[in-house]
Amino acid sequence: MTALIKHAFTVDVEDYYQVSAMEHRVNRSDWDRLDSRVVGSTERMLRLLDRHQTRGTFYILGWVAHRFPDLVKRIASCGHEIASHGFWHRLIYTQTPDEFSQDIADSVDAITTACGIRPTAYRAPSFSITDKSWWALQILVEQGFSDDSSVFPIRGHNRYGVARAEKVIHQIETESGTIREFPPAPGRFGKATLPIGGGYFRLFTLNLTSAAIRSIARKGHPAMFYIHPWEIDPQQPKMGGLNRATRFRHYVGLKKTEHKLEKLLQHFSFTTMTDAIESYQSNAPGDPTSINSSAATR
Ligand SMILES: [Zn+2]
Repeated sequence: MTALIKHAFTVDVEDYYQVSAMEHRVNRSDWDRLDSRVVGSTERMLRLLDRHQTRGTFYILGWVAHRFPDLVKRIASCGHEIASHGFWHRLIYTQTPDEFSQDIADSVDAITTACGIRPTAYRAPSFSITDKSWWALQILVEQGFSDDSSVFPIRGHNRYGVARAEKVIHQIETESGTIREFPPAPGRFGKATLPIGGGYFRLFTLNLTSAAIRSIARKGHPAMFYIHPWEIDPQQPKMGGLNRATRFRHYVGLKKTEHKLEKLLQHFSFTTMTDAIESYQSNAPGDPTSINSSAATR
């Protein structure tokens, strides 16, 4: 039964110097001047997915879409789902609701101008929809978004996490309507809880990530896998001035990631986020779990 489950393969399209951990080192006004590698590394990701005839969801940073519209067209022409990762990669809880609203509108504008497709799925920079920024969900609904993957059901991380959040696909009610949430939920390996993607994918063996995915599939749910183009780019320039923990987290395992992804794509069946939600819902008839979220107001 678990073999039939289609998991979500998702890519946050941003440059290596746009990650939240480098915010204190790199000014946004310098983004234009830095040695951008996002086109090459995303093309590499596209070829990898093509080799495995797999479609995924690409959460594209508005800044990237504005600067490299042809890349967005390429992603769309390969059949992947076009989604938004905001424009400036600002953590949501560092913005006011009005600033966030503008950031989303700018990202939608850049992406739509680039490829003619208006995104309806969103992922926050560093999963930064938390209790402090729960109002963001209502703004997303108001701007035409139907799907989100930003609420990390985990506690204890310095940038993200909502300990009380659901771990499976569910609907969140806001005052302006409903949004479907496909949380980037961790799986289990023995007693350990293991996020499925990003630095954890690079740090741990493929067997551990596979076990975590299987722990979710055994319960009849699809897993949400996430990765960044820079994570398969070991040639990226090394950034100075990072503390030891950040350096480790950003650079660990870069050389092996592409090969691990090849294996992962052989072992499991992946698709876009929307597709995974829909095939999950059609296999589990009845209303999806709906949580009433009166907190999701401004
Ligand atoms: Zn990001």
